[in-house]
Amino acid sequence: MEEPLIERMRVYGETIFAEMTRLAMETGSVNLGQGFPDTDGPRSLLEGASRRVLEGVNQYPPGPGRPELRQAVSRYRARHYGIELDPDSEVYITVGATAGIAAAMLALVERGDEVIVFEPMYDSYAAMITLAGGVRRSVTLRPDAVSGRFTFDPEELRAAVGPRTRMVLVNSPHNPTGTVFTPDELEEIARVCREHDLIAFTDEVYEFLTFDGRPHVPLATLPGMRERTVSVSSVGKMFAVTGWKTGWVMGPEPLVSAVRTVNQFLTFSANGALQLAVADAIDGEWEWVAAQRAALQGKRDRLASGLAAAGFEVNVSEGTYFVMADIRPLGFGSGLDVARALPAGAGVAAVPAQVFYDHQEEGAHLLRFAFCKRDEVLDEAVSRLTAWHGRGA
Ligand SMILES: *Cc1c(COP(=O)(O)O)cnc(C)c1O
Repeated sequence: MEEPLIERMRVYGETIFAEMTRLAMETGSVNLGQGFPDTDGPRSLLEGASRRVLEGVNQYPPGPGRPELRQAVSRYRARHYGIELDPDSEVYITVGATAGIAAAMLALVERGDEVIVFEPMYDSYAAMITLAGGVRRSVTLRPDAVSGRFTFDPEELRAAVGPRTRMVLVNSPHNPTGTVFTPDELEEIARVCREHDLIAFTDEVYEFLTFDGRPHVPLATLPGMRERTVSVSSVGKMFAVTGWKTGWVMGPEPLVSAVRTVNQFLTFSANGALQLAVADAIDGEWEWVAAQRAALQGKRDRLASGLAAAGFEVNVSEGTYFVMADIRPLGFGSGLDVARALPAGAGVAAVPAQVFYDHQEEGAHLLRFAFCKRDEVLDEAVSRLTAWHGRGA
């Protein structure tokens, strides 16, 4: 049989994550490649889910999601950001943010439409824009010479807009760079959206994982943006249960309704017992969220200083689970080669950042490390990397 996969999806065949995970397992490496925590979410959340399953919440929930969760989402968005969402028509529950992203691209991007994305980018954006028949126009985030945080050149953003541009996709706090867009950066994006009448799609799954007191500002709160912005967030990063795959799409009714039209034939609905447990946690576990944020900030510092001691140049991470490290001070040029050599050489796994870029040369010298791990795991990784560096890498 000829290659059965449709042509435009063939480039997405084998992901680097699978390869790195396999290498990590073969070598007994500390795996800082994958972005999931190695400790559990709040106890009440876990017990709430088990209780609901035993109580018999095991049949299809309503397609748009349990009203309890839609209302809880509407409440926290109002409380934290002043965004008013009608829980019935402006909040829609999906199988993780991933399904929300997929449904939104398939629902909103017409064949041949262009979508502006910031690279490096989360891997599902590229694949879903392609599956929808859209075309990416990527704007590169680069470390600022002074601050060391990744940011974009507003000129480059404006130059990316063309007659077929339909959407700007914004992920802040940003995976993999850790950048949290400032109000000024968001205003640059908002201006482009308003001037060219574009849809904004925002991925805010790390909304509560910002550090050093930095606020997360949803793009929808900027002037003229609410009516054109559709957003996703999810329980995975909020409560450290990445396997739960329960997310929500938020925005004005016409945009959410478009997403629903597609999603009802993708997954129809998401796990109902989990939705009820998540609704309770959203209302009752803010102290846990604050404590998690503080703990992660400490982990960022722990790993960043360890990587610097091991010879990497470490970029500034303002949020998320990740920090980017430059391998050039160690005398290397190819992150792909280093990432492939690290498990056997050092006993540590990381992800070569170039896989997150359309312009791969922009990220060739960067590795992404995840710090959402127990302190002793981070310390072990650092001591292995330091020893590896000491042996002349
Ligand atoms: C983890 C992650 C997601 C996926 O969220 P799920 O709710 O697990 O589907 C989406 N976007 C970004 C940027 C992520 O890091």
